[in-house]
Amino acid sequence: MEQLIVGRYGEIGLKGANRGVFERALLREVQRRLPAGGRAELRGGQLVVRVPPEAATAAAEELTRVFGLVAVVEAVAVPLDVEAVTAAAVDLGRRAAAQGARSFKIAARRAFKGFPLTSPQLNARLGAAVAAATGLAVDVHQPDLVLSVEVRAEAVYLHGPALAGPGGLPVGTSGRAVLLLSGGIDSPVAGYLAAKRGLRTAAVYFHAFPFTGDRTKEKVIDLCRALSRYLGPVRLWVVPFTPVQLAIRDRCPEAYATLITRRMMLRVAEGICRRERAGALVTGDSLGQVASQTLEALAAVGEVAELPLLRPLVGLDKEEIIALARRIGTYEISIRPYEDCCSVFAPRHPRTRPARADVRAAEAPLPVAELVAEALAGAERIVIPGPGPAAGG
Ligand code: ATP
Ligand code: MG
Repeated sequence: MEQLIVGRYGEIGLKGANRGVFERALLREVQRRLPAGGRAELRGGQLVVRVPPEAATAAAEELTRVFGLVAVVEAVAVPLDVEAVTAAAVDLGRRAAAQGARSFKIAARRAFKGFPLTSPQLNARLGAAVAAATGLAVDVHQPDLVLSVEVRAEAVYLHGPALAGPGGLPVGTSGRAVLLLSGGIDSPVAGYLAAKRGLRTAAVYFHAFPFTGDRTKEKVIDLCRALSRYLGPVRLWVVPFTPVQLAIRDRCPEAYATLITRRMMLRVAEGICRRERAGALVTGDSLGQVASQTLEALAAVGEVAELPLLRPLVGLDKEEIIALARRIGTYEISIRPYEDCCSVFAPRHPRTRPARADVRAAEAPLPVAELVAEALAGAERIVIPGPGPAAGG
């Protein structure tokens, strides 16, 4: 008998030539999360992972954060032998009973027709054996435990309930992106969603010290740490932004300050994209939440970007964003009190429907190229190692 973890990745991304890319990336992301002695392979359209038995439950939980997997199940593999299968089923039934299960059903599937018992025969035979040995009741409608038995050519796999995976595509299969990460609720969720679609994601945070304190920087580092459980290693660029903020305050009309600030952020972020060889920018913008998120404002800001500007939150309501933030573990970090550099410098009467030409005119007194170059020159790179034994668990 062998302890396994089986990961299901469904059909997404498996079309034609992409299949190999998808599978190699999935294996890489799984492998880096396994404890010592763990080994992952792909077999029959499934991910099969072997880990030391005592590490299996923790490893299965870890794999629920690998993009590309839709389900993760702890399983045992036994030889194609009725007695061995029965013993393994009884063992799983006992474990479930010890954890409080009271009813079960067997869900057998004979994919390999060389096995002597049909699926209905297996259901009957194993059902009777497990009921007799454990006292669990058979309930085919609403059982506490569905004990799946899958007969394949190489082995019979038995497993209990599946844990949900995050779905999506393995990180890296869609290329690279740079996330504009503030200390707020939205941008971490945007980074999660971008990575979910296969983007290897680095982050950039604009730090206007001392208007925003170092506690805010710590917060952003903690957000990266939380995200790295899903994203893998995260490179965070901390960009000194005070000179830009002060120049805007001193030289540009106040009503346009936020818009110009955002334009400067995008320009610097594109410089970070070049360093990261990234092909897209990601922001936590939504639509209609605040003054800076009208279509006119998005247009007046977005026009400075040459790379695609992705806004994954556009389809989500605030409640949905918060629910997702809670689920991925960023919400509790985001709601810590902090100063937002943009609220420190926020105009009293911002333009909500700016004309692009007016924004350009308002920005004209600014030495854009020098400020961008200076900000990039001062950028500090912090590497968050991400999940895996090398990172200390
Ligand atoms: P968040 O909750 O992510 O702060 P928000 O809804 O508060 O977003 P804004 O504050 O208007 O919206 O910011 C819009 C987007 O601009 C953010 O989601 C983020 O991508 C980017 N951004 C804002 N401030 C910063 C910053 N200091 N550093 C990096 N990115 C920033
Ligand atoms: Mg914000």
